[in-house]
Amino acid sequence: MHDLPSGRHFFRGDDGYQQARAATVWNARTPQRYPDVVVQAADADEVVAAVRYARRHDLRIGVRSGGHSWAGNHVRDGGMLLDVSRLDEVAIDADGLRAVAGPGIGGSVLAGRLGEQDLFFPAGHCKGVCIGGYLLQGGYGWNSRVLGPACESVLGLDVVTADGERLHIDAEHHPDLYWAARGSGPGFFAVVTAFHLKLYPRPPVCGSSLYVYPMAAAEEIYPWARSISAELDRRVELQIAASQSVPGMGLDTPGIVFASPVFADTEQEAVDALALLESCPARASAIVAIPYAPTDLDTWYAGIMSNYPSGYRYTADNIWTSAPAEELMPGIRGILDTMPPHPAHFLWLNWGPSPQRQDMAYSLEDEIYLALYGVWQDPADDDTYGDWARSNMAAMAHLQTGIQLADENLGQRPAPFASAEAMARLDRVRASYDPDGRFHTWMGRV
Ligand SMILES: Cc1cc2nc3c(=O)[nH]c(=O)nc-3n(C[C@H](O)[C@H](O)[C@H](O)COP(=O)(O)OP(=O)(O)OC[C@H]3O[C@@H](n4cnc5c(N)ncnc54)[C@H](O)[C@@H]3O)c2cc1C
Repeated sequence: MHDLPSGRHFFRGDDGYQQARAATVWNARTPQRYPDVVVQAADADEVVAAVRYARRHDLRIGVRSGGHSWAGNHVRDGGMLLDVSRLDEVAIDADGLRAVAGPGIGGSVLAGRLGEQDLFFPAGHCKGVCIGGYLLQGGYGWNSRVLGPACESVLGLDVVTADGERLHIDAEHHPDLYWAARGSGPGFFAVVTAFHLKLYPRPPVCGSSLYVYPMAAAEEIYPWARSISAELDRRVELQIAASQSVPGMGLDTPGIVFASPVFADTEQEAVDALALLESCPARASAIVAIPYAPTDLDTWYAGIMSNYPSGYRYTADNIWTSAPAEELMPGIRGILDTMPPHPAHFLWLNWGPSPQRQDMAYSLEDEIYLALYGVWQDPADDDTYGDWARSNMAAMAHLQTGIQLADENLGQRPAPFASAEAMARLDRVRASYDPDGRFHTWMGRV
């Protein structure tokens, strides 16, 4: 027989195969791609056995932790789909400000466990996203403008290589593979079984501002948001979400929401850090204006998830840019004019200018991040809404520095996501650690 986990592997045609395959994808739009076998590993030994099995049978491997890749990157035709979501333990060393966490733990779950001990990690903003995919691609989370993309807080990883060997990798051990693990995202070429994380004391104050504007204010809002990039306090994350309605706030007409988390030592510091948002030239037309309110991560998670309901069909695409507002506005008008109904939305994020980053595969970012999330429920609407995100980002591609892997759509719109130098090094490191191409690579690249 074989050494795949009993009762937790499903060959194509087996009872349970379709369910096991579909369960690996959070997006209700499950890709029409079919691996030969789905394997659900429960610990690192089972990962080793699965990789060795794949090697013996010449199967390429796609790995899944939380299954929140919008594109379902791990679901490919043929080969093995290795589901490691069951590796979800975490051990916290509060005194040493360290944790060892499995790739299948949700970022919000990790944040909650840490919060109980007054600890903090720049986990992602949404429930369900697991640290496996999140940390490999970069990781834009709570207080990340201060703490950096979360991969900068990955001190080491436990991995299973294409040979089926277990390795601990960090700055001293297999530094090339450690370099690659921080930024190669859905193109990483080993299976992560644990992350060794640097933790932080929980900031004493978690606050927020909230403004809701009518869509008509767009012509004032975006040029202003572009103009304040360099001034905006790094403790503030200015997220501007435009959608056809804002049901949570009783707005059934198109609106633009500024929801800005802030982390600080005192409430006064938080208030001061947010004060710049009062300078928006559209301020007098705000339907809701709360310059500061104390809050907590649970409240944030609940609010954000109203834009990402489960059971819906999704596409996403994005660009990093530092183009001037006048060049961005035609594309933004196109986005707003073609916006599908809520929960589809357009996100603008003030991210940079950024400090010098660590030496890692993650090597591309810019001042402004624009992302589109096409969201709908009825499969009959796939043709109507399925290309909204891609086509609008393609129309602005001449303004992009590149894309974030967080919201990648590489299979539909290949775009740069790392520097040319980093891409060349990634290819060299891959050739050394995965010479036979055991692991699937990105669905597209330039
Ligand atoms: C609702 C929603 C909200 C999001 N919010 C944020 C956010 O706030 N910030 C942010 O940065 N991103 C965000 N994202 C993007 C998200 O971080 C990425 O899609 C990430 O890849 C998801 O991780 P995952 O483990 O859940 O997904 P998966 O689909 O399981 O993983 C994505 C890819 O990573 C690779 N991978 C995953 N686990 C492993 C492993 N153990 N070993 C080797 N390779 C592995 C595989 O190639 C896999 O295809 C969000 C996505 C969604 C759907």
